Amino acid sequence: MTRRIALLPGDGIGPEVTAEAVKALEALPGLSFEFEEFSMGAGEYLRSGDPMPEETFARLREFDAVLLGAMGLPGVRWPSGIEMTPQLDLRERMDLYCGLRPIRLYHASHTPLKDLRSGDIDLLLVRENTEGLFSTRLNPLDREADSAEDRLLITRRGAERVCRAAFEQARLRSRRVALVDKANVLPSMAYFRMIFDEVAAEFPDVEADRIYVDAMALYLVQCPGRFDVLVTENMFGDILSDLAAGLVGGMGMAPSADIGDRHGVFQPSHGSAPDIAGQGRANPVATVLSAAMMLDWLGAPAEREGAARIRRAVEQVLSQDGAGTRDLGGRMSTSELGTVISEAII
Ligand code: ATP
Repeated sequence: MTRRIALLPGDGIGPEVTAEAVKALEALPGLSFEFEEFSMGAGEYLRSGDPMPEETFARLREFDAVLLGAMGLPGVRWPSGIEMTPQLDLRERMDLYCGLRPIRLYHASHTPLKDLRSGDIDLLLVRENTEGLFSTRLNPLDREADSAEDRLLITRRGAERVCRAAFEQARLRSRRVALVDKANVLPSMAYFRMIFDEVAAEFPDVEADRIYVDAMALYLVQCPGRFDVLVTENMFGDILSDLAAGLVGGMGMAPSADIGDRHGVFQPSHGSAPDIAGQGRANPVATVLSAAMMLDWLGAPAEREGAARIRRAVEQVLSQDGAGTRDLGGRMSTSELGTVISEAII
């Protein structure tokens, strides 16, 4: 079976890292892919006036999965001054409510923390992707008004489905989930916790914990090895996933999968990193690992085996001292690292 994959390389370092993920997928024995590339993002806005042309969006649903690089550029904004974020529009319009963001330490030298070894940090952040504090993000900004406000929306449906997804993920891992909230202060968060508790009762075999977000920021730095699956609101997930990425080598090490009931978009957690774009400095590992998550989600046994092959290759390459791009303390370019990973796939 040939899988049809829509490629959205996007802006900044997006095309550079996407090319390396395609290289890894093409190196997999026994799997076949047909890639079709589409233009979306800040570059497309400059070309056509629309960062996500409707015809392109409509076509994405024809594909088995979408692999995305990164979108947006700081200098390209809507007239309101807000950056364009078609990757967020995609999550909302395709109802990709579950953001899976695995964080794993591959080499002791990648972390700023002391006395850790490869594998000592291995957690999965599950981010609610379609509501929370992002729910009114498209409201116009009134610069003349005396105040501005955003709404933190938690719906029963939104909370139930993301909590259920987190418990299901925990069943595939160490059967522990922690809800990260602010239930002591915000009624919306107390509501989220109430629903988490209801869902927890459906999974008596999974240990459920509840931790305030401020405490979690502290614990992630002090004792990240204590956690397995974390589930949280959209904005908290956005912030904590960058913090967690910083514990394992930075944004170039943080893959993600945005999954709904029918569609999946796979992309690194990072943005377009314009500061390093076009220099061959971007770390492609996050995107390569996002491609592995895509294979797991596609789900045929050969695809799951392909995902494991990619992860083993990344593990093997990064276990060597000094291997990697500059952000990891290495000297390889984006394509050199992508090539050694592809060559390590067996
Ligand atoms: P967004 O809000 O769109 O997610 P951001 O503002 O958080 O983006 P990023 O583009 O993710 O910013 O970049 C944050 C920092 O991480 C920058 O210094 C950038 O160079 C670095 N960075 C991001 N991705 C990579 C990568 N793949 N390899 C190396 N460094 C990266």
